[in-house]
Amino acid sequence: MHSDHDCIFCKIVAGSIPAKKVHEDEELLVFHDIHPWAPVHVLVVPKVHITSLADVGAEHEAMLGRLLGLAPRLMRQLGVENGFRTVINTGRDGGQEVQHLHMHVLGGPRPWLRG
Ligand code: AMP
Ligand code: ZN
Repeated sequence: MHSDHDCIFCKIVAGSIPAKKVHEDEELLVFHDIHPWAPVHVLVVPKVHITSLADVGAEHEAMLGRLLGLAPRLMRQLGVENGFRTVINTGRDGGQEVQHLHMHVLGGPRPWLRG
């Protein structure tokens, strides 16, 4: 599986740096954000290194569907009952800080720190 040795999320996928995992399957890993903006804040990450949503191709469409479809299941699992927010930051102007595709899923009672 393609990975980038300097990428923090590839290191989490490889297990070489720790994360609070909430879901793992063949294609996707989900873990808690280290600096949560909301009572529940997880990141859904493809295990393969894809830099951003601007870099996906037709071969990634099924994975993207699963990534999005996981959000409501995760929120139910984590006890979020009144809705949630999904965010994918892409590129410099999109505010992307980690250069490995990920979707933020945020939920829990407001007010939130951000988002
Ligand atoms: P973005 O600005 O969309 O690239 O968001 C990157 C997110 O990754 C931020 O919310 C960070 O708090 C989060 N993050 C960075 N490093 C880690 C880490 N080691 N474990 C969990 N979350 C992280
Ligand atoms: Zn990566």
